[in-house]
Amino acid sequence: MYRSMMLINGEQVEGASFDIIHNPANQEPVAEVVIGEAIDAVRALEAAQRAFPEWSSASQKRRCELLHDAAEIVRERADHIAELLTMEMGKPIRDSRREVLSAADTLDYFAEEGMRNIGDWISTGDTRSIVTKQPVGVVSLITPWNYPVELLAWKVGPALASGCTAVAKPSSLAPVAATEFVMAVNEAGLPPGVLNIVHGSGDTVGAELVTNPISRKISFTGETSTGRWIMEAAARHLKRVSLELGGHAPMIVFDDADIDAAASACVRRAFGNMGQVCISVNRVYVADAIAEDFTERVLRRTLKLRIGDPLDPEVDLGPMVSERQRRKTREHIEDAVRKGARILCGGREPEGSLFARGYYFMPTVLTDVDHTMRMMREETFGPVAPIMRFSGEEEAVRLANDTEYGLAAYIYTDSLRRAVRIAERIEAGSVGVNLGSVIDHHAPFGGWKQSGIGRELSHRGLDEYMEIKHIRLGL
Ligand code: NDP
Repeated sequence: MYRSMMLINGEQVEGASFDIIHNPANQEPVAEVVIGEAIDAVRALEAAQRAFPEWSSASQKRRCELLHDAAEIVRERADHIAELLTMEMGKPIRDSRREVLSAADTLDYFAEEGMRNIGDWISTGDTRSIVTKQPVGVVSLITPWNYPVELLAWKVGPALASGCTAVAKPSSLAPVAATEFVMAVNEAGLPPGVLNIVHGSGDTVGAELVTNPISRKISFTGETSTGRWIMEAAARHLKRVSLELGGHAPMIVFDDADIDAAASACVRRAFGNMGQVCISVNRVYVADAIAEDFTERVLRRTLKLRIGDPLDPEVDLGPMVSERQRRKTREHIEDAVRKGARILCGGREPEGSLFARGYYFMPTVLTDVDHTMRMMREETFGPVAPIMRFSGEEEAVRLANDTEYGLAAYIYTDSLRRAVRIAERIEAGSVGVNLGSVIDHHAPFGGWKQSGIGRELSHRGLDEYMEIKHIRLGL
């Protein structure tokens, strides 16, 4: 069985205990993961603190070269890391591979962006102002299980490019691929202590990374409730926080849209990774005039999705990560049906021996839904596509914004004027117009309202790891 160690100060270390990770597709053991305690987080933070002076004063060129080398090593190991990722959390192997390669691209992106980390020179009379950006120091990087490699790369890339040193803590549900990623990055030749990884529960190891004064910033991706606690705890030391939290993305399909493109994006975005994505389509609003046609196409495409062993490259959907996630999905569907929703497909586990021991669930399309239902208000984090009709722009915008979240939204329309008009009124950090994806390394990503604070990706993502200093010169 695979063994996953922690990495502190450049050395693989044991923990106080270990945990067995089971494959959500069949409950077979996948890996033995060493589990640390708060003291391991402290050791890792201290190692990062020792490494900080050298790393932060290294030239940008050196950091950039190391990050490019790290990206190459991650690419070389993509198959291995992807396989572990699929086996620990159930994502289809094609998607896992894409995730790992995208993580490598993220390192390349920030290697380049780090080279452009430039300040300002301002001349006023007989004074000159030099405005520089300096790394904030040691940073804690805490990540969830749904994109354990990619979301960690979004943090590791800018942290290291800016000159910060870091301690990562992956989710206990899926720590293996993330750890392999960190090992690969280290093998590029990082000085010991620049990038560490510790395992353990959020309550102990995670909380230490948040509260220990050595770390000057916390970059967290996970649930809104955890993010709230982290922000409160971080306030004691006035630490900087970036919080990428829950989402509840609406998709609005207007009557002038390319219906087939919209249906295709809806299916991909609602069911990809079994809906366990913060930017999944959670609510679909479709114009009255095309509602029947659109729903029919969504249904046809959903029925074609292949569910099965996620290691099979032909499979579209694997199992969910855990029984807990599957139960929550079931509960949301039962609640909706009790309140009048109609299930058009799915709503249950698939039948057959292949599915008997895994957390499988069928992609579920529902109509006759309304905002009294839990799935229209809370993050299901499961494969559901509730479709609701609307009869005008005002209603569409009102429904889309009727949520405490504000991470992503999608609009389908052929009218440029309408697209801009609506996109500007949507309360979310990212709006996809005629696109089912809002992620681009060059553009900032982050939430409004209860979806978080701060931005990742782009030069703004890099700025989150830097302090600004003004040096005023008298001539
Ligand atoms: P959690 O908030 O449960 O956990 C996220 C991470 O935080 C885990 O590593 C967890 O450790 C750790 N953690 C838990 N409690 C604490 C604590 N008190 N102090 C420090 N760390 C802690 O989220 P999930 O793993 O369940 O991830 C799913 C959530 O992530 C969804 O709500 C989803 O929307 C959100 N998400 C947001 C994204 C975004 O970009 N906005 C992207 C992807 C997901 P452990 O679990 O090991 O105990």
